[in-house]
Amino acid sequence: MRYRSTNLQSPLVSFREALLAGQAPDRGLYLPTEYPTFSAEERATWPSLSYAALAHDILKPFVGADLPSDALASLCEEAYPFPIPIEEAGSGRFLLRLDQGPTASFKDFAARAMARMMSRFLEQEGRELLILTATSGDTGSAIAHAFYGVPGIEVVVLFPETEVSLRQRKLMTTLNGNIRCVAVDGKFDDCQAFVKRAFSDPTFSSLPLSSANSINIGRLLPQSVYYAYAWAQITQGQGEISVVVPCGNFGNIMGAWIARRCGVPLRHLVAAVNENDEFPRFLQTGRYEKIVPSRNCLSNAMNVGHPSNLARVVSVYDGQMDEIGQIHKSPEMLALQRDFFSTSVSDPDTAAAMRSAWSEGILLEPHGAVAWCGMQRYRQRHGASCPTLVVETAHPAKFPEAMQAILGIDPPLPPAIEAALLGEESFTSINASYEAFSQYLRDTFRV
Ligand SMILES: *Cc1c(COP(=O)(O)O)cnc(C)c1O
Repeated sequence: MRYRSTNLQSPLVSFREALLAGQAPDRGLYLPTEYPTFSAEERATWPSLSYAALAHDILKPFVGADLPSDALASLCEEAYPFPIPIEEAGSGRFLLRLDQGPTASFKDFAARAMARMMSRFLEQEGRELLILTATSGDTGSAIAHAFYGVPGIEVVVLFPETEVSLRQRKLMTTLNGNIRCVAVDGKFDDCQAFVKRAFSDPTFSSLPLSSANSINIGRLLPQSVYYAYAWAQITQGQGEISVVVPCGNFGNIMGAWIARRCGVPLRHLVAAVNENDEFPRFLQTGRYEKIVPSRNCLSNAMNVGHPSNLARVVSVYDGQMDEIGQIHKSPEMLALQRDFFSTSVSDPDTAAAMRSAWSEGILLEPHGAVAWCGMQRYRQRHGASCPTLVVETAHPAKFPEAMQAILGIDPPLPPAIEAALLGEESFTSINASYEAFSQYLRDTFRV
């Protein structure tokens, strides 16, 4: 299995190389050059598999010869010791709760698999890595927890100082050790831009930089497993489902696309976004305009004005978009419109979806509620002829202010998170300039 760059100017690489590099040298994002097909016979075995066992079967062809099958199997067992609840909500509606990991975010899933794969490859090569990652809230804590104490890896997490919740922040800043946190007096897009720029800055060419953002293929592939697992559990191997994903950087829904491409019977991929509506507009008009600055919404982990994974979405539909969002070749719009449904959900509609779900006994936080509203709109348009899966990407207790303000309740924290919040915080604050970040890196790593 080889990987190519969305910018088409880099040599093909193996999975190991793509994983350790993060971004391709031409600043594009890596994608597989081919996709395995899981046959109906193979898929018929899935309903009886554990999540970890299914993760092994799905990831194996993508990882190829770089990791022996038994090593991949034990890595998946270690990465996924927690439950993956699927709730039936009636009328063919299902809810997948991806919030049982150590930071109560779906980002734990990919981060934990990726950290273990990276650590294994680095050990084989006697190498070290410095991971730079930008977070709009949940990535940083999932990455920090997944890599905490992993030998040979240092992590720097950048986050927008005033846009992450106290709990989100504490989940990153209380670990210390090999995890360093930088609070930027700006927006998520600034953080993401600094990380991207540091990668191509010759000043840092002596540092073994890598990324753990959703631009890394290692963050993407494990996310295809959600959809194979949910499909198998819901259908018991017969028929299709549609999936509704709350989208920010579009890494999660690219996972769904990959699952579909490999033969998982997913009818539509529903991309629900908040008021950052660049994707639904693009889908409708074929013209892409980023939103600068990104709009602040209740679902703060989705406040992304230019999703990095759109370059991948465009690429798999035979188009080309570069890292700044310029389209050099239009994707096959008709195919894109056939496979995707996308809708933008305002904050008032997000709150209304939280209330409406709660009136049915379903507790959602704002990100899951954007998807819930997306599901309602999708069903209005396309009917309810196949089961629809809504993905809840975080635990409601991570957003106490919103839960209190909208539903008047204060859901209890999962115990692991409660423990993490007791630690001492440490982080460095910088202003929103690349100079300040560059200075921080030079001082910290003595470049
Ligand atoms: C990151 C995040 C998202 C968006 O996921 P993408 O893969 O970036 O599209 C949605 N919900 C929550 C809670 C998140 O943390």
